[in-house]
Amino acid sequence: MAIRFRKSKRIGKRGRINFSRSGIGASVGVRGFRISVSPDGKIRRTLSIPGTGIYDTKVVGSAKPEAKKAARKPKRKCQACGRAAGQKDVFCRYCGARLE
Ligand SMILES: [Zn+2]
Repeated sequence: MAIRFRKSKRIGKRGRINFSRSGIGASVGVRGFRISVSPDGKIRRTLSIPGTGIYDTKVVGSAKPEAKKAARKPKRKCQACGRAAGQKDVFCRYCGARLE
């Protein structure tokens, strides 16, 4: 049995919060223009021409900070023995070789 869960709740006149299995999203907008935040943190704006079915969606930002991996520096390694070295170490703590 597949259970599906999707629910939305109106917030004020123009806002909406969407609950789904992947998380909570939100959107706010008027006819022809909508900004929404998906559960994965992506902010999208949707422009549409009411009554035509024509619309354009674009990701304009992220509500979540960029993935941590982008900020993490590559791990340093001792050239002599190959073991891990701290970012600020000057000498290898294992073999004493000078680190680059
Ligand atoms: Zn070393």
